[in-house]
Amino acid sequence: MATDEGDAYLIDAVQRGDQDAWNDIIARYEGRLVSFARRRLAERAEAEDIVQETFLGLVRSLPNYDRRRSLETYLFAILRNKLIDHFRKLRQGERQSLDQLDLNEAPSDWLDVETPSRYLADREGIEAQRGVLVDVLREWVAKCQREHRFQDLIVVEMLVVLGLRNKEVASDLGLGETAVAGIKFRVLEQWRRAAEAARIKHDWQEGDLAQDSTLARIWQEEGISCLKRSTLGRYLLGALEDDWQQYVEFHVSLLACERCSANLDDLRGEDERDDAGRASLRERVFASSIGFLSHRPE
Ligand SMILES: [Zn+2]
Repeated sequence: MATDEGDAYLIDAVQRGDQDAWNDIIARYEGRLVSFARRRLAERAEAEDIVQETFLGLVRSLPNYDRRRSLETYLFAILRNKLIDHFRKLRQGERQSLDQLDLNEAPSDWLDVETPSRYLADREGIEAQRGVLVDVLREWVAKCQREHRFQDLIVVEMLVVLGLRNKEVASDLGLGETAVAGIKFRVLEQWRRAAEAARIKHDWQEGDLAQDSTLARIWQEEGISCLKRSTLGRYLLGALEDDWQQYVEFHVSLLACERCSANLDDLRGEDERDDAGRASLRERVFASSIGFLSHRPE
């Protein structure tokens, strides 16, 4: 469910020091990462710098990369941390007058920024179980999708991600409040059973998914319901079944998923760079990171 086979193959090769594989990974993910960064940053050059740092973060943290996690999720997590750091530094800069600004001073959690471990490690109680919880939730989402139970999925995401109340969800979807409460009750039962089977505990906020901030964070950081790139491609072509089409629309527009929106921007080719611009970023990223590949002989 996590890393796809192509990624796993490439990561293995990169860990053996294979430069072509590293180039392939950059080519595969660079577009969607730039699109994501461009949604936050006005300047393209800034976005490209941060994407370059993101790949550096990946290559440096590869020894610790848990290959059960999806590479895309991992890369977006690094990118988010880089963006948070970027804006934090900007704010710090604003507070200090220019002559006091020490440009060499790294933030105290500098090392931490290299990997998404900060968001994995800092949480009390749940870190060890987080990976399993993610699997449980992903499996539930996959099942909803297989069985075309999109209404359950949409109700849950409106509660968990948007933090809406039953009443609001009901009125937005044209359902009765009892129906929404019924779906929530049923879903919580499914999650409890799945969590029990996986031998983990999560204290689902009884009856109030909208207040469960841990769940909301995991849902977004791990892209629990994020769509495969191939699905997004078919969505753009209008080639999905109607209920799938509507679900993707919901996920991207109403839920405002930035990761899927970035993928869509990239697929639509809304990145204004020409081929030469793309190639030059790829070369820059490659040149800056190649020294970090291991040079173990084959
Ligand atoms: Zn998404």
